[in-house]
Amino acid sequence: MSKRLADWTKGEEAITYQTCTSCGHVQYFHRAFCAACGASDPREARASGKGSVYSTSLVCRAATPETRAHVPYNILLVDCAEGFRMMAHGDNGLAIGDSVVASFKPFAGKLVPYFARSK
Ligand SMILES: [Zn+2]
Repeated sequence: MSKRLADWTKGEEAITYQTCTSCGHVQYFHRAFCAACGASDPREARASGKGSVYSTSLVCRAATPETRAHVPYNILLVDCAEGFRMMAHGDNGLAIGDSVVASFKPFAGKLVPYFARSK
């Protein structure tokens, strides 16, 4: 099995994804196999952080005491340039279809991907 690249869940300022070497399926959640065809050992790569907004949802009620300081905050689904879709934080003013680029911000004590409109 190939070595897993460090990403933001490991404290690294990076978003990673996997591409299946047999069918070309792209997936964000890391697995030892392709979710589409079941082939093992998908190839890992670092994403550019560029994408467009697929949906937005403003969170107005804190789920935990640690997130209360951030309310209201926007949770986005972003279609990334590489072909996978991920959930992430982003600017409150973003609308569906906006071009965005990722940076990383602390949220409830953890560094998380944060999307803002790209210039
Ligand atoms: Zn596949």
